[in-house]
Amino acid sequence: MTTSTTPAPIIVREVGLRDGLQSIATVLATERKLDWIEAAHAAGQREIEVGSFVPARHLPQMADTARVLAHARTLPGLKASVLIPNLRGAQAAIEGQAHLMLLPLSASHAHSLANLRRTPDEVVTEMARIRAERDASGSATLIEGGVGTAFGCTLQGEVRPGEVLRLMQALLDAGADQVSLADTVGYADPQAVMRLFEQALRLAGDRFCGGHFHDTRGLALANVHAAVGLGVRRFDASLAGIGGCPHAPGASGNAATEDLVFMLEAGVHDTGIDLPALLALRQQLVDWLPGETTHGSLWRAGLPRTFARASQGLATAVSQGRAQAHQPGRSTT
Ligand code: ZN
Repeated sequence: MTTSTTPAPIIVREVGLRDGLQSIATVLATERKLDWIEAAHAAGQREIEVGSFVPARHLPQMADTARVLAHARTLPGLKASVLIPNLRGAQAAIEGQAHLMLLPLSASHAHSLANLRRTPDEVVTEMARIRAERDASGSATLIEGGVGTAFGCTLQGEVRPGEVLRLMQALLDAGADQVSLADTVGYADPQAVMRLFEQALRLAGDRFCGGHFHDTRGLALANVHAAVGLGVRRFDASLAGIGGCPHAPGASGNAATEDLVFMLEAGVHDTGIDLPALLALRQQLVDWLPGETTHGSLWRAGLPRTFARASQGLATAVSQGRAQAHQPGRSTT
């Protein structure tokens, strides 16, 4: 919790390679994904969701996940996670020695049936099977249960907080090592985040591991800020804010990684991430995805001259020359 005078480090997990890429038309070549992961790692990112083990006929963008995961596993200190929709996906994640596999559960019954073809309680049952499989295999792959549409749903409308918390408890009881909350369609606001996350933290304690916010209505950063105030220390984000949701019309992607890191570092939370390097990678990604809509604000004007990276200490201002030299421009590669 935020009792110390020194703000705690915060983990920003990159999910653009999964949540972002699965929702856009362009299929990014495997080599580009490997380049992305290497550059993100070089910029200091230490948790990356590298893909999902879903049938290739459903998501051709994710067909190379095993190969991408294998490469990510070679980078020192990098935690490579994958999304899994079911036991079969879990078997692939265990086989590929993912550090973490995330089983999504939609608290909205309508979204769950449309997206996962299962009721939420059937997903809880699948979690129990996955936990049994993981334990029987002797695998070290951690299991995260991600409760999505936690603040409402485009298909169902209201999702009751009591149902969100019931399902979170059920996932824990079924064997999830950790649980998280996701605002899949961008319905959350800071007040709602404070109410629900406070209860989730009380329920799950140390096993509550983070938040996942979409910026559909421009509140992703405000929602992260609200959760940080409660002591949450891990958030998902997507470089250039790419992505959306196939079942959420008009949805934009996750919080843009670069903007989120900027907000956290400006608030002197150390993320371990080199922002100029991340901005250069953002430009690279934009070049790789011609015609795709990207988001975010920081890239437009670059870092302020007064910006000091949290890990360099409050007193150390980035020199004007360095900040200018790293200003991203259209020509940056
Ligand atoms: Zn998402």
